[in-house]
Amino acid sequence: MSPKSPGYRPILLLLLACASATPVGVGAAEWPDGRKIAVTLTFDLDADTLWWDDPDSMQGNPSSLSQGRYGPTVAVPKILALLERHGIRATFFVPSWVAGQYPETLRAIASAGHEIGAHGVKHVAPVTLSAAAEQAEFAESVRVLEAITGKRPRGYRAPSWALSDITLELAVDAGFTYSSNLMDSDVPYVHDSPPGLVELPVSWILDDAPYFWFDEASWDKKIHSAAEVRAIWQEEFVAAYESGGYFDLTMHPQIIGRPARVRMLDELVDWMSDFDGVWFATCAEVANHVRSIEAR
Ligand SMILES: [Zn+2]
Repeated sequence: MSPKSPGYRPILLLLLACASATPVGVGAAEWPDGRKIAVTLTFDLDADTLWWDDPDSMQGNPSSLSQGRYGPTVAVPKILALLERHGIRATFFVPSWVAGQYPETLRAIASAGHEIGAHGVKHVAPVTLSAAAEQAEFAESVRVLEAITGKRPRGYRAPSWALSDITLELAVDAGFTYSSNLMDSDVPYVHDSPPGLVELPVSWILDDAPYFWFDEASWDKKIHSAAEVRAIWQEEFVAAYESGGYFDLTMHPQIIGRPARVRMLDELVDWMSDFDGVWFATCAEVANHVRSIEAR
């Protein structure tokens, strides 16, 4: 996901109109070992890609680009330390250009046991690409991520959550087993079409970008305090917990990794950990569980 996508709202409306799935929810009793909620901490490592003036030339303002570079170089080490402190494995969705540019960061993430999913090549929205270009992007991103981490990615989050009407079919063809892109359910489900693909739903309220994103085009936009966002996310967590749901946080290292925010995330994880029956898992683990329930 990224907040910097022209025409975001029309794309999302199109996306909702194109979604061809019947949500099949899983309830609290169906989480492993009777646990009451599944929590996935996800990090979209967009790095410099959000700040290119033109993805083809990869040109951008050096100051803007430095905001992206902060993600893999400064924020990810802090996030990895946080996850290690809590004994949690998370999921990082990474454009393959970023993986190639920062291979040591990718290896550090993978060697700590975290999952790495695909997130395009240069963070170009699939809805803007031809079918052939989309296929080529899937092939390229799988090749690069597998070469660097030694593991084939199984999860797919589209850049800007901006799917075309064939993206999910192409994802299945490329070997992906789950998507984390749609907003039509509170809990994970299995798509009718393409059949068998698990959806791990996302939402704007559980995304760091709407609260913290800032650039020269958003001068009038409020930058929320970490405390405000913690209050919103705690409210969402309690409601999800009480309904036996799912809590899927979408974060961006360059955004959440700033000092007060990463401290807030640390405190939030501590607070969630005090509830009984919280299952912190990677997206792949949740997707595998949902698929196993569907197969019964
Ligand atoms: Zn992104």
